[in-house]
Amino acid sequence: MIRMNPLATAAAVIAAAAALSACSGMGTGRAAARADLRPTAAVQPNTTTGTVRFTALDHGVRVAGEVRGLPPGTEHGFHIHEKGDCGDNGNASGGHFNPAGGTHGKFGSAGTHAGELPSLVADASGVARFRVDVHAISLNEGAANNVVGRALVVHRDRDDFTTQPAGNSGPRIACAVIVPG
Ligand code: ZN
Repeated sequence: MIRMNPLATAAAVIAAAAALSACSGMGTGRAAARADLRPTAAVQPNTTTGTVRFTALDHGVRVAGEVRGLPPGTEHGFHIHEKGDCGDNGNASGGHFNPAGGTHGKFGSAGTHAGELPSLVADASGVARFRVDVHAISLNEGAANNVVGRALVVHRDRDDFTTQPAGNSGPRIACAVIVPG
C-alpha cells in the first residue's frame, strides 16, 4: 500500500506554484511603471482618481488603465508633464513633456509633444478606460524620452489640440508621479 506523505505533497504544490510565478515574471521581462492618480484641490468637489500602467514595448510604451470619478460623458485633456511634482494643484509638474521640441497637437500627429495622450472620455458612470501604444516615449533609464519620474496629469476641460502650449484644457484635476513598478 502506498501512502502519500501530506506534508511532502503540500511542499511539492508550493514549489510548483513558486516555479510558475517565477516563470511568468521572467516571461514578461519588460520594464514597467505605474501612476496612481489623486485628485487636486484645483476644483471642488473633486473625486478624480485613476490607476495607470506603463509597459515597455519593443518601440515605445503601452499606457493602459482607467480614470474614475469624472463627470459623466465629459472629455478631458490628458498628458505627461515634464516634472515629477504634483504640488500646487499639479501646476508644479510644469509644461508637457517635450524632449524633442515639438508643438502641442493631437496624439499621433507629427511634430507634437512626446507627452501627448489621447483625451479621456468618461462614460455614463464617470469612468474612462484606455489602452494606447505611445511610440514617442520610453521607460529606458538615461534616455531623453524616459517618462519615469515625470507626471501624469488629467485636466478639467477638453483639449482643443490647437492652443499653445497646452490645448486650453484648464486646471489640473488629478496628478500622479510616474514611478517604477
Ligand atoms: Zn496637460
